[in-house]
Amino acid sequence: MSKSKSKIERTKLFRMVQHCWIEDDVFRPTIADCREIFNNINRNVFNGELKMPNFRLVYSKAFWGECRGDIDDNTQVTIRLNKSFLSKRLFINTMAHEMVHQWEWLTYENMTHGPRFFVWRNELEKYNITLSRAYRIKHYKLT
Ligand SMILES: [Zn+2]
Repeated sequence: MSKSKSKIERTKLFRMVQHCWIEDDVFRPTIADCREIFNNINRNVFNGELKMPNFRLVYSKAFWGECRGDIDDNTQVTIRLNKSFLSKRLFINTMAHEMVHQWEWLTYENMTHGPRFFVWRNELEKYNITLSRAYRIKHYKLT
């Protein structure tokens, strides 16, 4: 199952994340950006198991991202993302965070920031995507 490093480095996802190191500036995502990065993370990290969420771009001073599960359908979630991120990297890290919640919802019908959440940390790290608890804007500013 484990992919070799060179194979990972040839993926579009890896190159997209690498590019963020160069272009580190305010990033205002579109729904198309959300779907593109979602598809790449889903394919490479989650084996394509996640269903395309409903994406909402919102203005918020409280959070970067938020995931809500549909209580009648564990395959479906709504992911709300901030309209403006400090960098594209932060946007991608936030997307990964919300996708782990989506996976938890699909698997356990529950969302946490516990050990179950962090089982995805190493796999995401291979693509230089950082998984952290800090999804609240105030948390991000502290760290
Ligand atoms: Zn979270």
